[in-house]
Amino acid sequence: MTAEAVRNEFRAWLATAWDPDLGLQAWRERLVASGWAVPSWPVQWHGRGLPSSADQTVADELRAAGAVGTPLGSGMSLAAPTLLQHGTDALKQRLLRPTLTGELTWCQLFSEPGAGSDLAGLTATAVRDGDEWVVNGQKVWNTSAHHADVGMLVVRTSWDVPKHQGISYFVLPMRQPGVEVRPIVQMNGHASFNEVFLTDARIPAGNLVGELGDGWRVARTTLHHERTFATLRRPRFDGVAGPRGRTLAEAEAEADEHFRTYVWYPQRAGRADLVVDRARSAGADSDTLVRQEIARLLSFVRASEWTAARGRAARALGRQPGPEGSLGKLAASEVARRSARVHALIAGASAMLATGPDPTDSIVAEVLVSTPAQSIAGGTDEIQRNIIGENILGLPREPSTDTDRPFRDVVRRTADDLPR
Ligand SMILES: Cc1cc2nc3c(=O)[nH]c(=O)nc-3n(C[C@H](O)[C@H](O)[C@H](O)COP(=O)(O)OP(=O)(O)OC[C@H]3O[C@@H](n4cnc5c(N)ncnc54)[C@H](O)[C@@H]3O)c2cc1C
Repeated sequence: MTAEAVRNEFRAWLATAWDPDLGLQAWRERLVASGWAVPSWPVQWHGRGLPSSADQTVADELRAAGAVGTPLGSGMSLAAPTLLQHGTDALKQRLLRPTLTGELTWCQLFSEPGAGSDLAGLTATAVRDGDEWVVNGQKVWNTSAHHADVGMLVVRTSWDVPKHQGISYFVLPMRQPGVEVRPIVQMNGHASFNEVFLTDARIPAGNLVGELGDGWRVARTTLHHERTFATLRRPRFDGVAGPRGRTLAEAEAEADEHFRTYVWYPQRAGRADLVVDRARSAGADSDTLVRQEIARLLSFVRASEWTAARGRAARALGRQPGPEGSLGKLAASEVARRSARVHALIAGASAMLATGPDPTDSIVAEVLVSTPAQSIAGGTDEIQRNIIGENILGLPREPSTDTDRPFRDVVRRTADDLPR
């Protein structure tokens, strides 16, 4: 099927199926039933088995018609592709459809206080109890965990094998007494992530994703997708003029709720788009140093966009995300860092003002306290460099001293070792 044929067929379907007054849930059910929600997914799992370029075609057509697609968030971007690759048919049957319609919202429960970059050193543990697993431990930095229905959880199920081999991947029901979610307030004043305490939390045995002890491989699939989906863009439902129906109103409300968590993410990315206007309004656009730094920044931004476009083209050809995701992630960190520097150069001390004469003053202040997160979330810059060195450049692997013995025998720092 050619790209043009996909476009024509979807456009024809949308012309008769789209109903702005249907309500978001009912509309998404109709979209999912048609196989057009994510046409690149297998026919058996609500798709049409088309090349991944069809997903973009559908997104473009939905936008042009002012219609609504699948929900935002880690359910569609991380959990669904992981389930499609590793989940049992029973799990896919149970979880994919409500993820596509937005009935089920997700969070990612990977990091722990002692296991971030060294995620395979995690210690939260699940023990089998009849038809269930019982989990104890702590997770941290878990975005949106405060309103998630389920979590992608990695835990240790064996301490008697080397660290990567004793990890399993589960879908954790979040709304139960053993799961306590506590929000963390960041230095930019927002609270988008949480600590999650697991105390005898229970997971049905059927919620295991992949094989027992093979959770590291499953988690790598999620992480690959995370590096690829590094940016978030708010959908615009303004393709058509006229009154907004119930479907659009509910989609707007859903996007508002979702973006409350991510409201600072554009600032985290550096707001390179603002530097020229900021230089003009500050009268710094004739300063040769400022001009040079802006040119340097914007040419780097353009080069990064081309790298991202190459990655998108590879995906459109059906390739799974690979180490090139790390290049994009690293470039995004560099853009954020350089943008913060140029904003500070232009604004001087007033970059610290939360309010000021220029309406964008507060944005610049938020950029300065938000950009550090860009080079940590989804794997730090140093870790991306390790991945690029090993997987793209073929450099020797980083020396390791803790992978040759059962995890039980690895010397770990405990709370008792910390300075008091
Ligand atoms: C905005 C944001 C959202 C997040 N959302 C989630 C989420 O939803 N779910 C979740 O589970 N986690 C989430 N995280 C956590 C994130 O994945 C971790 O913060 C990240 O993996 C780094 O781990 P860490 O904070 O423990 O730092 P550490 O691993 O302790 O690293 C500290 C420093 O040491 C460096 N370092 C560590 N190991 C090496 C090495 N081998 N070689 C060279 N340098 C090294 C690091 O680069 C870093 O500079 C989020 C983080 C942020 C900032």
